[in-house]
Amino acid sequence: MPGDGLDVERLRADFPVLQRAMNGRRLAFLDSAASAQKPQVVIDAERDCYERYYANIHRGVYQLSQQSTQAYEGVRGTVQRFLNAADEREVVFVRGTTEAINLVAQSFVRPLLEPGDEILITGMEHHANIVPWQMVAEATGAHLVVAPVLDDGQLDMAGLRERIGPRTRFISVVHVSNTLGTINPVESIVELAQAHGIPVLVDGAQSAPHMSVDVQALGADFYVFSAHKTYGPSGAGVLWGRLAHLEAMPPYQGGGDMIRTVTFEKTEYAPPPQRFEAGTPNIAGVIAMGAGLEYMMTIGRDHILAHEKALLAYANERLQGLEGFRIIGNAPDKAGVLSFVMADAHPHDIGTILDMEGVAVRAGHHCTQPLMQRFDVPATVRASFGLYNDTTDVDQLVDALHRVKSLFG
Ligand code: PMP
Repeated sequence: MPGDGLDVERLRADFPVLQRAMNGRRLAFLDSAASAQKPQVVIDAERDCYERYYANIHRGVYQLSQQSTQAYEGVRGTVQRFLNAADEREVVFVRGTTEAINLVAQSFVRPLLEPGDEILITGMEHHANIVPWQMVAEATGAHLVVAPVLDDGQLDMAGLRERIGPRTRFISVVHVSNTLGTINPVESIVELAQAHGIPVLVDGAQSAPHMSVDVQALGADFYVFSAHKTYGPSGAGVLWGRLAHLEAMPPYQGGGDMIRTVTFEKTEYAPPPQRFEAGTPNIAGVIAMGAGLEYMMTIGRDHILAHEKALLAYANERLQGLEGFRIIGNAPDKAGVLSFVMADAHPHDIGTILDMEGVAVRAGHHCTQPLMQRFDVPATVRASFGLYNDTTDVDQLVDALHRVKSLFG
């Protein structure tokens, strides 16, 4: 978009898959909220590891192992910079957002809970930020409390405030909704929680790919994200947690690489982050995740966010007046996510027709079934933007939606 500081044409060339045709059409990939495509530097980083220096880490005395250990451990510093964390020991490598939330639920929150205690989440959470809390609630007799969502897709902050009570032990909120695109005021939520002495986890699955995050300024206790959405590989991700918390937390899984000494009588655990990384990790995946984060930092996350917001504004404008078209999620502050329904056409049929036109979108409940119930829709179609999308992608989407309209209207 003019003036947003991104040379998208040049960036698109970094992504081999975007050069593919789809059903004989140019590929308009509009499903980055589910998973982003990978730039050549990420593909090369993973390939380079396997081709030149792959070996298991932390164990070998030989050079290959030392080299792969160095590359893997080096990514902690990359993540530290990416999040402006105070200490690289606060960076735990996990499989992704889901594993990070489960880890915090089981290791940090579960020991805090007594029957009747409360965990506060919001009505726009991904299943990954609902089910782990239900599991610990069920095991301890605690309850899940849910802050409501307003009709325009904003979080009801007054409703959230009202739900903080003497039994609230933990708050877990999504930074950016994967379904509505809403950017939540997480700084205010953290401030509110701190006033009550309640720790907070921020689900950054949809914020890390789109905007700068400064965990020290944010003040939260945990921040989590997945590499596959930040232009890296699947099967890798990050749990950032305050060092004092991580040091006090018991391990989540036991095994190799997370111990200091083991006897049959007693095991002494390693300090964090190793304490939480039992077993052989996703070595090449973590290294490639680092390449993805470096790629984003080189481009500049403020530029990425500005570009995606400009694309969203362009899409909103172009879609105005399309009869029967309704956007779900109209919060004033949104990231590049456009969820919608169309009268007389089921989201899955829309998705299939768009695919024939080379437009890849997601159709379904987006792992937010309670939110679908809140908005009284079975599913939505979701177009979501990444740094490589341009106005041609949006034009292709809009033209294809006119075709849907002509078929169903
Ligand atoms: N939270 C949000 C907001 C998400 O968008 C996603 C992924 N769709 C997740 C959590 C879960 O992430 P993952 O599947 O990578 O663990």
